[in-house]
Amino acid sequence: MRKQKLIRSQDSGIMLWKGRNDRYNKKFGTKETSQVRVAKPTIEEYKGIWFPHSTRKYSFITWLATKNRLATGDRTQKWKRNANVSCVFCQYPKGNIEHLFVFMPYTFKIWEELMKCQMSASGQVLGSLERGS
Ligand SMILES: [Zn+2]
Repeated sequence: MRKQKLIRSQDSGIMLWKGRNDRYNKKFGTKETSQVRVAKPTIEEYKGIWFPHSTRKYSFITWLATKNRLATGDRTQKWKRNANVSCVFCQYPKGNIEHLFVFMPYTFKIWEELMKCQMSASGQVLGSLERGS
């Protein structure tokens, strides 16, 4: 691990920060100290969650869901032993993220309707392509 060092310039007598490749700067820069933390590659999926003009509340909840960090029944039980772990929407005995986003009857109905709309839209596009319009 390399550190950004503060040294005194011999020419001007001012203090300079020594960064990467032995470059000297007047200002401290975090880019020059990137050796302290390891940069992780950007994951393309996050662009679908965090994008300009998104509603931050929904982006945050979606981000928590992708990290399995929502306060679902199975997770709250880890924090508090006597917590109510049933689903607050349908009283399913053990609420978890799969139940919330896939298997709950209400969620399943939403997915079903979305798929109908998607299939209908796809059918219209394919139909128009076949007709040449
Ligand atoms: Zn439920």
